[in-house]
Amino acid sequence: MKIFDRKKVVFLTKHGKEAVVKPLFEDQTGCHVIVNREFDTDRFGTFSRERKRRRTQLKTARMKIKMGLKRSNADLGIASEGSFGPHPQLLVPWNVEMVLFYDPKDKYEIFGIYEGPLTNFSHRITSEYEEIIEFATKVGFPEHHLIMRPDHEKHKFIIKDIDDFFKLKAAYERCMKRSVMSKVYVETDMRAHANPTRMRNIEKATQDLVDKLMKLCPVCNAPGFTAIQEVKGLPCSRCGTPSEFTEKIVYECHKCGHNEEHFYPYGRFVPAEYCHVCNP
Ligand SMILES: [Zn+2]
Ligand SMILES: [Zn+2]
Repeated sequence: MKIFDRKKVVFLTKHGKEAVVKPLFEDQTGCHVIVNREFDTDRFGTFSRERKRRRTQLKTARMKIKMGLKRSNADLGIASEGSFGPHPQLLVPWNVEMVLFYDPKDKYEIFGIYEGPLTNFSHRITSEYEEIIEFATKVGFPEHHLIMRPDHEKHKFIIKDIDDFFKLKAAYERCMKRSVMSKVYVETDMRAHANPTRMRNIEKATQDLVDKLMKLCPVCNAPGFTAIQEVKGLPCSRCGTPSEFTEKIVYECHKCGHNEEHFYPYGRFVPAEYCHVCNP
């Protein structure tokens, strides 16, 4: 028997994410995913800035699950939420995809995550159509769709669903006509159905979630026996001084409270080169 055998899981989504989330979740956990498209999830914020994202990724995902559970008779809820932007240190485009799971009966949540540079998130401001073609080719158009505006990123006039070269040319001409600077602002469409790269990242986050859920508590068998804390202090191999490296990981069951400490997940000692006493 699988962990969620015949349980109903509601998934509130507008942009076709069920294409990757539903089969993966159903196959591996045995549940039935009910897709709810009635609700406009753009109300929680969009990538194209018509509406600002006011909550954090996690809070938004929680809101979506709450709405989904309210509108169905499901036992469980899942939601997916992504974010894009330059990585604060690496300064490369960065995508974080989260798939959140919530069990309203036992009141516990677990999230799966993908985080990395695999994204085509970018934009270009230009007056030349040739430059738009070059940009489009670079970001994987037409499989990856584009969005265009006149002049700048906040312009009220916006053309979405650009998914072939005919529409691209037409969008360029319409935006140029409305432009006061003779420029257009073209950018990648980050909605899941318009962005196969993002869709693959959502799939990875979903797999991470399923992997976490399928770890069962050794005492009560509840799904989702996951790490709750990483404790630093791995000793130096020469002098034994505790370091900033992980010494143990603590796992805890959300249901019965059983916990386990797993020591030395990345090795027994830190090389003296990393020690602030031996190598200050
Ligand atoms: Zn337990
Ligand atoms: Zn040392």
